[in-house]
Amino acid sequence: MSDSNQPSTGFAPRKVRCPACAGTSLYSPQNPYRPFCSARCKGVDLGAWASEEFKLPDDTPPDEPFGDPRLQ
Ligand SMILES: [Zn+2]
Repeated sequence: MSDSNQPSTGFAPRKVRCPACAGTSLYSPQNPYRPFCSARCKGVDLGAWASEEFKLPDDTPPDEPFGDPRLQ
């Protein structure tokens, strides 16, 4: 708390753990990728999140493209 040259940004920068690479990330207004450490980590995490979202269990039966053969 000795640096008085910092602009008033609302919150103080602090080091957090990057959710993607578990490395050190600077959680600050200067880091647009927070809480990630880099754009790459942010992209990786978003990709994993998206694939998880689309990996929901599918218990609906697949469409029968030709219909029920017993009806023909
Ligand atoms: Zn990272």
